[in-house]
Amino acid sequence: MTPALTQPDPACPLCGPAPANILWEDAQQRVIHVGDSPFPGYIRVIWRTHAAEMTDLSAAERDRLMQTVYQIESLQRRILQPDKINLASLGNQVPHLHWHLIPRWRADPCFPDAIWASASQNPDRLAVWRQQVDEIRARVPALRHAIADALGAA
Ligand SMILES: [Zn+2]
Repeated sequence: MTPALTQPDPACPLCGPAPANILWEDAQQRVIHVGDSPFPGYIRVIWRTHAAEMTDLSAAERDRLMQTVYQIESLQRRILQPDKINLASLGNQVPHLHWHLIPRWRADPCFPDAIWASASQNPDRLAVWRQQVDEIRARVPALRHAIADALGAA
């Protein structure tokens, strides 16, 4: 890793002021609940220094980041009981390391495509999702608490 990669980049939104909905953070990582998403329980894990790729981190740093991702994935599975978890590290728009942890349900408007695909316009399918989503959303506060507890105790 070159030292320049660890300097904050003033053009980077993830190096800037703290965003809303921080569930937990330490000197290296920040965990955000993406609460304004139509996908319930969507969590983002951000590596706090301005690195673009996983291989910009040391092996120990990579392990630490992925342990956080796996801890949260386990909690999402236990508490929200999704049909699938999507883990995504893209960074094309913001080349600052972050992982998206997105619980998915077969009835959600984009399944089986990525959440960034076009949503279904099928009214029957959307009606099924509307019946499920409130019950899923009711479990999100428990997920938020469990993440804060698990990582805070780590
Ligand atoms: Zn950055």
